[in-house]
Amino acid sequence: MSDEIVDMMDFLLKMPLTFWDLYALQNDLISQRLSYSQQHIFAQEARNEAIVIALCKKKTYSQMTISEILACNGISVKNMPPVDCDSKVHFAIFEEPSLVYLNRKLTEICQQLLEQTGFDYILNGHSVEEIILAHELYHVIASAGEAPFIKKKHISVWKIGKFEIRKRITALEEVGAMAFTQEFLDLNLCPYVLDLPLTYCQSAEMAQSLYNRILNLWQSTKGGLPWTM
Ligand SMILES: [Zn+2]
Repeated sequence: MSDEIVDMMDFLLKMPLTFWDLYALQNDLISQRLSYSQQHIFAQEARNEAIVIALCKKKTYSQMTISEILACNGISVKNMPPVDCDSKVHFAIFEEPSLVYLNRKLTEICQQLLEQTGFDYILNGHSVEEIILAHELYHVIASAGEAPFIKKKHISVWKIGKFEIRKRITALEEVGAMAFTQEFLDLNLCPYVLDLPLTYCQSAEMAQSLYNRILNLWQSTKGGLPWTM
């Protein structure tokens, strides 16, 4: 592992939690109709809902591993088939109603990378695989209707008189999934930080471009947000 990824990780680990909400929402076309502060308010609501779910599930599933919880909910975990010519690295995908595809090889390489560089402390005793599966567990829970806020239609995109079209901000489900994972596994940081080393394990070039996107987002938002660094 080169020093460059260590420097990148050092920087990302200083990012406030609220920054990662905007990171989640940056590619959501519907959420782009909102100001940063409005995005922040919606994300906070999604986060709060997910934390309540996580606290409740912790009681229900105490002492069980994430794999056991998924199995107990009838969910199978399979290795992700290879994807050709894709510009995005996929770590895992939940396919309704009962299948999670996991990029197990990538999680193993990332695990080794974090251990070799001393960044494994951010996992708080869990494995990269467990963290990714916890994220998918939230999607399972949300698909069962247990996360009403993130499934609701938040924004009016067209309205004339009494006729109105409202749309969901789908990326709020990702905010919820990360908040759930962090609370359920007692992590000290937003699991979005793992996007970088996971991407790096697939391609150093893609990791650099991801890092540049994160830096640009940071630069473009830090003036108008209710946080400091
Ligand atoms: Zn997700």
